[in-house]
Amino acid sequence: MLSRLIYHSRVVGLCSADMLNDILASSERNNARDEVTGALLFNPEWFVQILEGRREILSKTLFRLFPDPRHAEVAIADVRPIEERMFSNWWMGAAAIEGLDARFLSAQGIDEQFDPRRLNGEAMLMMALAVSDTLTSRIDDEA
Ligand code: FAD
Repeated sequence: MLSRLIYHSRVVGLCSADMLNDILASSERNNARDEVTGALLFNPEWFVQILEGRREILSKTLFRLFPDPRHAEVAIADVRPIEERMFSNWWMGAAAIEGLDARFLSAQGIDEQFDPRRLNGEAMLMMALAVSDTLTSRIDDEA
């Protein structure tokens, strides 16, 4: 069954371009093999990730990335069956949370002190869709 899983986690260490590019390189390799698509939003403190794929594959992916020392406090915000993918162009596309428009954030009730623990999965999906034009498979600057 095609499903979408949304989680957030806390960045451990410096959220550098090198770190993000390492994550994106593994994601691209593994997700292409597993037909997983999605988006990874980040800021210096938090990751928010949307993963789309077959439910059993999403479970395997989550178990693999759960113990990754580059993040902690992994918390699932939403998992549900879907009819179609929303990030079908991306094995994993990344975007900075800071790139989100301030008016969009306040309309979602998200203040400057971004904290995904206060958001539901729907708001996280809206965030990812709002930056879907700027998703990238490689980060150039220090995040
Ligand atoms: P490799 O990429 O070859 O890595 C080998 C091992 O080294 C792994 O155990 C890895 O965890 C560890 N490792 C590699 N680089 C570092 C580093 N710089 N610091 C510490 N440990 C390191 N993987 C996916 O497949 N799909 C995803 O969508 C995905 N999203 C992620 C999102 C986040 C927020 C994070 C933190 C990681 C994500 N990963 C994702 C990476 C995942 O946690 C595993 O590292 C990866 O799947 C392992 O791939 P691999 O078996 O090909 O091993």
